[in-house]
Amino acid sequence: LRAKSIILLLFLFIAFSVPSVVPVDGVSLRLLWGSHLLAENIFVISKSRAESQDTRLQSDLGESLTLLESTRGGRSLAGYARDKRIAVRFGFAATSGVAAAFVPEASGSNGGEIIVEPDYSSQPSRVLAAILAHEITHAKSYGNWTELSARQEMIAYKAQARVWQELRAGFRVKIGALALEVFESSPENDYALWISRAGKRQALRSIELDYRRLGVGPT
Ligand SMILES: [Zn+2]
Repeated sequence: LRAKSIILLLFLFIAFSVPSVVPVDGVSLRLLWGSHLLAENIFVISKSRAESQDTRLQSDLGESLTLLESTRGGRSLAGYARDKRIAVRFGFAATSGVAAAFVPEASGSNGGEIIVEPDYSSQPSRVLAAILAHEITHAKSYGNWTELSARQEMIAYKAQARVWQELRAGFRVKIGALALEVFESSPENDYALWISRAGKRQALRSIELDYRRLGVGPT
């Protein structure tokens, strides 16, 4: 009972205090008993507050690529992007509704380019680094002449999730079998995390539904 009260107090404390000190869009909390998920909740910070923080954030993608290079999960991907001279920039991709896209046949860049939605320029570098990991994985499979498919998409999401798990702000506390995970949330990257934790069939089904919704192939 004591452990439960401590966890509950921590839960409430974090939900109300963390968003005010860390510039994040939201906080995701997960309560686990062993590996069994007991409760999960995401506290989203009000849009107006998030926007006022946005004006002073303005990330640059070169910085995000450097950050990606500093991670265990993303080092080789960032190295690949540099070796192949893949350009990264903010802009509108041909497909709307996606965070980013890899364009192999970009003019003026023989390695192709990764275009990130301008809306994401207000996101911290750690959020962008994970998104870049996803797109560089696509660039790599394109470079290896691997057919783009839902299966490739799943691999890209897994690379994204690995980097996001390394970079996202937060922590995990454990009391016996009870564990509380508190991490910043980023819808795009949390979805990648969900895909990486889901069963293969469920993940593939979700990706195929996304394709249908967007009316596209792999992004
Ligand atoms: Zn993709």
